[in-house]
Amino acid sequence: TEEIMRRSEKLSVVGQLAAGVAHEVRNPLTTLRGFVQLMQKDSRLDKSYLNIMLSELDRINLIVSEFLVFAKPQADRYQEADLYAIMNDIIVLLDSEANIHNVQMITCLEPGVPPLRCESNQLKQVLVNVMKNGMEAMPDGGELTLELARESEENILIRIKDQGVGIPEEDLARLGEPFFTRKTEGNGLGLMISQQIIQHHKGTIRYDSKPGAGTCVEIRIPFR
Ligand code: ADP
Ligand code: MG
Repeated sequence: TEEIMRRSEKLSVVGQLAAGVAHEVRNPLTTLRGFVQLMQKDSRLDKSYLNIMLSELDRINLIVSEFLVFAKPQADRYQEADLYAIMNDIIVLLDSEANIHNVQMITCLEPGVPPLRCESNQLKQVLVNVMKNGMEAMPDGGELTLELARESEENILIRIKDQGVGIPEEDLARLGEPFFTRKTEGNGLGLMISQQIIQHHKGTIRYDSKPGAGTCVEIRIPFR
């Protein structure tokens, strides 16, 4: 019965997640549909609409990539990947999100890090989730610092640092708990998913934070 409980809990997580994704994807889709309809009526429509359409498409792309882990079965798809390239991909993906939040991304990425055996889509998802949290923690904008380095022979280090509101001590222990969120629009699933993924990679994720002093997230993954 315990197993059944656990399974039904999991199911409701997935169900809630699906509902959240559907809801969030619907908004940009409605906007896009409206513009296409306008264009149908008036072909001389101002080109500036295209920028809005592009950023709405980016938004959908971002939402979907945030939830990749539930979209695909957990087959063994570990492959050698270039973390430098992956991080650059994510920086491009999050560019318009950064602009919206008035956030400047500062990068210090070591280009020569050795390839890492990983599930690159899942690691991308972790990066999206953690970086988005950093942006959302800075309501008035600020700097999001991204570092990638080969810390030792054994592991890679990714550090993501924001200048945001920080995390109170009593919340630190609750990070990664399903549905733990302090945001009105949050779902409290991003870190749960991220921790699971890092665990699958035999890595660690560490939070260092104080209210008002920003947050530093350190992710370590062994080359193995
Ligand atoms: P969500 O972003 O939907 O709230 P997450 O699992 O991503 O869910 O994060 C859970 C909670 O952890 C957030 O609501 C927030 O309170 C806290 N948190 C996570 N990252 C940060 C950060 N960089 N700065 C401040 N608080 C954070
Ligand atoms: Mg989040």
